Formats: sequence, structure tokens, C-alpha cells
Amino acid sequence: MTLTAKRMLLLGSENAFKVGDDIRRAEALGTSVIKLNLGEPDFDSAPNINQAACQAIAAGDAHYCDPQGLLSLRRSIAASVFKSRGVRVDPDQVVVTCGGKPPIGYSVLTYVDPGDEVIYPNPGFPIYESWIKFVEAIPRPMMLKEERSFRLDLDDLAPLISENTKLIILNSPSNPTGGVLTKDDLVAIATLLKERAHPQFRILSDEVYEKILFDGRRHESILSLPEMRAHTILLNSHSKTYAMTGWRVGYAVLPSVEEAQIFRQWNINTYSCVPPFIQRAAQQAIDDAQNDEIVSKMTAEFERRRDRVIDALNEIPGVRCVKPAGAFYAFPNIAGVIRHLDIMERYEALLRPGCQPVDPSTMFQLFALYRHGVATLDRAAFGINGSFGQHYLRISLASDTATLMTGVRRLAAAAVDREGWLRFAREESQLLIAHGPTGGR
Ligand code: PLP
Repeated sequence: MTLTAKRMLLLGSENAFKVGDDIRRAEALGTSVIKLNLGEPDFDSAPNINQAACQAIAAGDAHYCDPQGLLSLRRSIAASVFKSRGVRVDPDQVVVTCGGKPPIGYSVLTYVDPGDEVIYPNPGFPIYESWIKFVEAIPRPMMLKEERSFRLDLDDLAPLISENTKLIILNSPSNPTGGVLTKDDLVAIATLLKERAHPQFRILSDEVYEKILFDGRRHESILSLPEMRAHTILLNSHSKTYAMTGWRVGYAVLPSVEEAQIFRQWNINTYSCVPPFIQRAAQQAIDDAQNDEIVSKMTAEFERRRDRVIDALNEIPGVRCVKPAGAFYAFPNIAGVIRHLDIMERYEALLRPGCQPVDPSTMFQLFALYRHGVATLDRAAFGINGSFGQHYLRISLASDTATLMTGVRRLAAAAVDREGWLRFAREESQLLIAHGPTGGR
């Protein structure tokens, strides 16, 4: 008998949190680290939002409340969904959650049995794959390609959809690629689903970056398509839009009141309710028009940084980076660097029976961190299935321009440092093994 349940072997994680251990170790070894790994805006929540929470606490609004979410907040959410997507939803279809993550787990737990198939973007937010594997569903990664600016390719999607497809996860704008789905993409996805899926499928549409769009783009939501309304769970969060990552507030809009009751029940079984003073602040964020202005300014700043960083990345020999259309990440292709440093040679040398080295892009990520002082995330952090042989990094734009440019210069230095790489690979070979896909990352 083992102490922990067998299913615990199936639970994944999010490297954005785990890379912190490597950063601390690199710093303890004397390296100053530029942190381009962070998936949260480098802005603070707006004063009007902060005040709303403080006032609510002062007024004693700090007791248990409706597990589904305060009705006044659910009304605001319903109104904002109508305004942005032209869809009328009953506030009873809305469930307020602790950030955007719970609706991912709730959706998988609610709709997916072992053996059912779940389609999800890869590269994509790692928590999708974690839950899919946890419930012993069959993961069907939908590979996003650089040559299509990481919008999904319908020719790739079509064969993934079958009578066994229970859930399809969409994420636009995307973490980590910044790819954005167009209205035409969504219409085509809807047509394919109608043609090929069992009528009981659900779409989980993760739109947490909906307001962070560049070059004047408009957000398109599959919920706006009348034929998809009855199938779609909208997932949203205040974390990125209103720079409220630590507040832990988000929500799901369910296709029916009955399904919302199930999500409410998940809340009851986990954290009972989102703290009411947090919900008052969340409502303030949506209702007060000055926050639209604040969000626009933040997005404009991300766009300026994007332009500088993408140009600088494209000047590094061996690096190629498409311009993200939204979110706040760059996702450069580093295949040329892997070749130049001969990282595959080291990978193959470490690959022996019983020894699973980390992916080549992870090797470069660790080298850049430990020897050149720049923290990024590796390709494997965004879905293991199907990721091997794809050489990318994720660079967050959530630092001021000077910091970003220093980080990019450090990456440029790492990209041509053959001698440094060989020394690192020799001296730190344990690091390149212990972190392998089966090494708990
Ligand atoms: N969905 C995506 C695509 C994300 O990138 C994140 C956070 O990084 C989340 C959901 C979860 O957001 P939250 O921090 O609100 O739980």
C-alpha cells in the first residue's frame, strides 16, 4: 500500500511556479537573474478597485456568502457578457470562482469520464493537460503551428474530433503563443464540431486574455455564435485584465442554470465561496468605466514592449519569433540555437535506459538561467504530449523595457556561448537529468 493515492501520479503542475526553485538556486550561486518567466502583469490593481475591497471589509462584508457568487457581481458579469458578446445570460448561469483555474478542473471533472477524449491546444496552458490526465481521459493535443501564427489549423483539428470528443478547450488570445482566433476560425471550428462530434460535447473557452489584444484587433468569442451557445462554457478571470493575479477571482458562464448549479456545488466542496470583499472589488473592476481606460493603457504598454522585444529577438542568430497578436508573451523558435550549441548531441549522450534527460529547449532554458542570468519558460512547460523536438521558449513581456532588453541581451549572449554551454553541460549534468519529464517538473 502506498501513502498517496495512485491517482496522484497523474496530477501535473505549472512550471511557472516551479521554475522559482531554479531561480532561487541560481541566485544562491551568485547569479543575478532577470525574470522573464512571470505570467502576471507588472502593474498593480487600480486604486478604485483596492478601495472597494477595503470599504467592504470595513463594513463587515467578510462572512460566508452565496457559494455561486454575489448576485450583484453575477449581474455585472451577465451585463458585461451581453455588452462584449451580444449574448444574454441569466445571472444564475454565472459562477464566481477563485481565479480562472477552478473552472478548468470543474469542467473536466463535470463532463469527462475516463476514456473520453479531450481536445486542447498545445502549446497551451499546462493545467489543461494536468486535469485531462488526472481523470484518465484521452488527451488529444491540437498542435499549434508557428507558420500559422499559432492559430489552429483546421486540417489538424478535423481528424481529432470524433464521437468520443467530450470537451474541446480553446484559448484565445493564447498563453504562451499570443495567437488569436479570428471569427472565421471560430465559425469553421463550430462547423466541424457540428458535423463530427457527438451532440453532447462541451467547449471550454478560456478567454482570460480577452482584453489584451494588439494592432487594433477585436476579441472574438465562440459564445457569440448562436449555434455554439448551448455548448460553451466561458472561462474568464480578473487576474490578467485588471492586474489582479493575487486576488484570486474569476468566473465561468455555463450553458444552463443546471450546469451552473454543479459548478456551485464544486465551490461548496472546495472553498465554499470567494471572499465577499474580493467580489465587491471584482464588481467595481467591471462596473467602473475608468478601468477600461486603465486596461487600454496597460495593453498599449505591452504592445510597445512587444515591438521592441520581437525585433531584438529576431536579431539573435538562430532565433525566429512571430509577432504575438495578444496576451503578453513572446514565443521564439530557438531551433537554430539548439543546432549552433549542439545541444542535441548532449541530449543523446544523456539518453540511456532508465535515464530521461530534459528536453533540448529545457537544457537551453537552464543554461540561460544558471550561466547568463535570464529566466524564461521552456517549451515542455506548455504541454508534454507532442512537444518533443519543438524548440521554443516563453518570454513574458511583464517587465519594464530596460529590464526586457537586458534579458534579451543575455539570451543573445547565451545563444552563441558554445564553450559556456559545454562547461555547463559537463558540470551540471545532474540538473539536465533530474528535471526530465519524469523528474517531476
Ligand atoms: N488560463 C490561462 C490561459 C492562463 O494563462 C491562466 C494563468 O496564467 C489561467 C487560465 C488562470 O488564471 P488565474 O490566475 O486567474 O487562475
